[in-house]
Amino acid sequence: MKYALVSDIHANLEAFTACLKVIEDERCDKIVCLGDIVGYGANPRECIKMVREYGMATIAGNHDFACIGKTNINYFNSYAKESTLWTRKVTTEEDKEFLNSLPLVDYHDDFTVVHGTLYSPELFDYIQTTYDAYLSLQLLENQVCFLGHSHVPITFFQGEMISYTLHPEITLEDGVRALVNIGSIGQPRDDNPRASFAIYDTEARKIKVHRVEYDVETAAEKIRKAGLPEPLAERLKYGR
Ligand code: ZN
Repeated sequence: MKYALVSDIHANLEAFTACLKVIEDERCDKIVCLGDIVGYGANPRECIKMVREYGMATIAGNHDFACIGKTNINYFNSYAKESTLWTRKVTTEEDKEFLNSLPLVDYHDDFTVVHGTLYSPELFDYIQTTYDAYLSLQLLENQVCFLGHSHVPITFFQGEMISYTLHPEITLEDGVRALVNIGSIGQPRDDNPRASFAIYDTEARKIKVHRVEYDVETAAEKIRKAGLPEPLAERLKYGR
């Protein structure tokens, strides 16, 4: 099976469409979405629609739950808060019902997906250190877990010790478990403005993180036109 894994779309229709084109060209069998379909960007409804039309197996991110009041947005920064309030206004009851139906963790063939961490998926913590990675790897019941949330692609391995790599191509070796952060489609934050997603070929046991150019200007202009905070438009240019 060839799986495409997408995460942190953040209502960026231009980035999402560009990635879906690559996913179609690569002839993936199934698309799995790791959450944060909405928030920050100007096309939440359109992005929800595409996730549903493509039949993506989807889990919840903190911004999806924020949109329906399941995440406390008092902890959000002011831009995230403002965009959440805007997203609540423009999404329909049906959109919200869909977001409300999303689970926090899901299991496929031989991999697991979660938005933040396996040890407290409902808290949406970040995995930033090898110790954070260790805590989730301890709970991993199969060989690989894909996640998003930080918007920075990175892979942690557990062999005898925990190690990590920023390399975009990973081969799963016997006896080694992996935690793969696939980065963000709609708001990359690793100083690389190109949209990020992954393809996992289960037979070859290879994972590749793809980076895709898209029409950043249009996405940024839509954010401005919607009256969302200017920095949310500006940061797309720099991937920050
Ligand atoms: Zn996110």
